[in-house]
Amino acid sequence: MQRIVIKVGSNVLTMPSGKLDITRLSSLVDQIAWLKSQGYQVILVSSGAVACGRGELKVENPLDSVEQRQLFSAIGQVKLVNLYYDLFREYGIHMGQVLTMKENFEPGEQFDNQRQCMEVMLHNDVIPVVNENDTVSVTELMFTDNDELAGLIARMMGAETLVLLSNIDGIYTGNPNDPESKVIRKVLPGESLEQYIQSSKSSAGRGGMESKHHTARVVADSGIRVIIANGKRENVLVELFSDARGEVVFTEFVAEQQTTVAQAINNQ
Ligand code: GLU
Repeated sequence: MQRIVIKVGSNVLTMPSGKLDITRLSSLVDQIAWLKSQGYQVILVSSGAVACGRGELKVENPLDSVEQRQLFSAIGQVKLVNLYYDLFREYGIHMGQVLTMKENFEPGEQFDNQRQCMEVMLHNDVIPVVNENDTVSVTELMFTDNDELAGLIARMMGAETLVLLSNIDGIYTGNPNDPESKVIRKVLPGESLEQYIQSSKSSAGRGGMESKHHTARVVADSGIRVIIANGKRENVLVELFSDARGEVVFTEFVAEQQTTVAQAINNQ
């Protein structure tokens, strides 16, 4: 059974107004239900708690950035997870919430326990929906963003593929708004795209292409295929994982061991 970790960024789940895009979220649930029906095991890393909470509450007094994160994530995570719960339930699929922090990824008891928790969920056909525990995590010790978190989860759980869903098609050769720029389709082991990376990022989440590239490089080097694709594209997950790939454009980091196998075959 193939294990996939799917990370959905805040920018995929929010509309330009900053409000949660429930239609998009619902469509992603439909696609994950399809993946499950095809026999894939899915772990979902979903951002959007802070963005979701921000859309819910108008605050009178000014808040500093930590207070904002704590307040909005506390409200937003509940809303987010409730929506996932209801939507997955329509398919008779169970989901469970996993909130975590960077400390839990140090080798040791917490790491083992966390892995064990997600293994038991998967074994019992429950989709883990993971996010950082933004209410209590300490700023200096946080994940750079949920791309880093998703990468750590993919490695911890021995996934075959990590999919990072953003609001653009992949890593471009230049500014994505420039018509001359093209999506880089395949990145081979050891290849760095640093020269192409734009440091600008969208407003909704903490991540950006720079950190996606870094996570993708590290994760692919550890033997896991990484795909960066556009989560706003209709049916993107179905297109990525069905034989009829259609026109979907994305960046794929080939896993280290995949080439090793390919080379072994070529060398025979
Ligand atoms: N954990 C944050 C949230 O759910 C998102 C972090 C990120 O943007 O990567 O709002």
